Amino acid sequence: MSIQSLILQLFIGLMAGRVSSVWAVALIDDSIRTGLRRCDSCKQPFSYLRQLFLWYPGLRCPSCKASDRLWPFWSTLVISVMFAGFGWLLLDQDCQSVAEVQPSQPLWQNRLPFHFVFIFLLATATITDYLDYSIFDSVVVRGALLAVITATLSGELQLIHVWVDWSYDNMPVSSPHDPAVTVPHFGPYLPEWMKAHQHLHGLIWSLSGAVAGAGLMWIARIASRLILGIPAIGFGDVTLMAMIGAFLGWQPTLCALAIAPLVGLILGLGGRIFTGRTFVAFGPYLCIAAFLVLCTWGYLWEDWRLRLVFSHWPTIAGMVSGAFAAFCILLVGLRLFRETPAAKLR
Ligand SMILES: [Zn+2]
Repeated sequence: MSIQSLILQLFIGLMAGRVSSVWAVALIDDSIRTGLRRCDSCKQPFSYLRQLFLWYPGLRCPSCKASDRLWPFWSTLVISVMFAGFGWLLLDQDCQSVAEVQPSQPLWQNRLPFHFVFIFLLATATITDYLDYSIFDSVVVRGALLAVITATLSGELQLIHVWVDWSYDNMPVSSPHDPAVTVPHFGPYLPEWMKAHQHLHGLIWSLSGAVAGAGLMWIARIASRLILGIPAIGFGDVTLMAMIGAFLGWQPTLCALAIAPLVGLILGLGGRIFTGRTFVAFGPYLCIAAFLVLCTWGYLWEDWRLRLVFSHWPTIAGMVSGAFAAFCILLVGLRLFRETPAAKLR
């Protein structure tokens, strides 16, 4: 990757990161002190112009000269690095390339902008969930609709097709010329309709991801309410998973759901010990897990042999049940953990 395109991606990330912080703060409850919408000390509201463009370390409130909060600077910087890092992984390191999916357009024309929008929406949802424990429909439901529409119009944004069958590998199948004759089949088996109707496939691919993400999260929400006795998973997490599914497709979404509890365990435990925050919002972990899958999908599918897992229904069912059991055990652990005072853990 040339240095110019890296700088361009950093710059797009800076813009997206700043818009994402300002949008997130505009959505959350006005009583939450963020220091971005208004001065924390003198309550002087800041204009959108100042929020968007005039925010750097060392800046002071024009009325009372109190120092500005630094988090909008850091969040913008982190998002910018995420954009450039992801762009480098996608275009230079082929982090998403799999043998089965060969888009006709170059990735920087279709998949890169699609996933930049996805990262921007994930960042916005993370900030609102972190500051206000809320995920807003105006971010994730609109995001999910945008993903479904774009996937249908393009027809080639999928990380992996909705169904790729590797169980046919080395098995005899009917000859395309004469159904009575069987010939050996090598490599992935794709149904004919997928190749003939790429826009319909794009629609089904994105919708099935949204249904898988939202459906599994809905079941987890019921399970967590039964085990923890409180709704630990909000409805916003369900709609967030619908958006993640619509952008990723169902197979990467299952991977993100499997990774999220691990991310939560590591970051949640650390956060509890260092900050003493008791309520754990689940949304940011889902967003981080989705971003990790986005950056590693090619390796997961090719090197981790997920293609063999995701072409065999009994294996998928077994994995989902196993992950669900692990999730329930984690919830039980969380219940015990919540009853331990934070001071004991420090
Ligand atoms: Zn002030």
